[in-house]
Amino acid sequence: MSVARDLEKLKDSLAASDRMPVVFLGHGSPMNAIEDNAYSRSWSRLGQTLPRPQAILVVSAHWMTKGTTLVDVSAMPRTIHDFYGFPDELFAQQYPAAGAPDLAREVTTLLASHHAEDDDRWGLDHGAWSVLTWLYPQADVPVFQLSIDITQDLAWHVEIGRLLSDLRNRGVLILGSGNVVHNLRAMRMGGKPYDWAMEFDHHFADRLNDRDLGAISDRKGMGELLRIAHPSLEHYLPALTVAGASDERDQLVFMTDTIDLASVSMRSFVFHG
Ligand code: ZN
Repeated sequence: MSVARDLEKLKDSLAASDRMPVVFLGHGSPMNAIEDNAYSRSWSRLGQTLPRPQAILVVSAHWMTKGTTLVDVSAMPRTIHDFYGFPDELFAQQYPAAGAPDLAREVTTLLASHHAEDDDRWGLDHGAWSVLTWLYPQADVPVFQLSIDITQDLAWHVEIGRLLSDLRNRGVLILGSGNVVHNLRAMRMGGKPYDWAMEFDHHFADRLNDRDLGAISDRKGMGELLRIAHPSLEHYLPALTVAGASDERDQLVFMTDTIDLASVSMRSFVFHG
């Protein structure tokens, strides 16, 4: 499907609602933060298409915690360069958006049942800023991150989304950043996608299309296919939280459905309505 056509479709239907959409972006390589390519261009266009948020809550694959869900309440989140072996230009990138401490503290309260705690040490990791730099290049929308508790099962992360979903009515953009398929060990330059990568990607998309949140969080049911698509789960979990923040009123639009380096799905999606 073509990105342009779907974003146009999205633009037409957004005018009808003041509820913020929820967005999941496959972020892929940190280089997407500075490269002009199909992904970065689609993120720019999405930023111009979405209603302007009051604040952005980012759930990134790169902030993992164990036993707690941390909420960054800092006034000015720092830009974290959480990678190595990349050009200096990438390390020089800054995303100087303000935080949203009051809202972030509310989120801590909202997620009290999920062991949420305030944090002022994290900031914005590359899962957040590599896409935000294209969505909102002026860095003029307050932004804060929520960590993912990797000790919890898949349904927990769907439930976090459900608990956050009311924020959509207050102009908060819930943005998940990860990858629907993410197996770095299997990556190969210029390789065509593995069959299992396409199978998992399509399974996820089909079940998401039915809003079958039980199926996409059924670790047993997905079995070996999940294990090979995600040797570790952190890039998958933000997609579950975004799905959890959707409801029956939403329409689903897929933005990108390509698989990079044979084993990294760049599939991105928006629920709106
Ligand atoms: Zn990543």
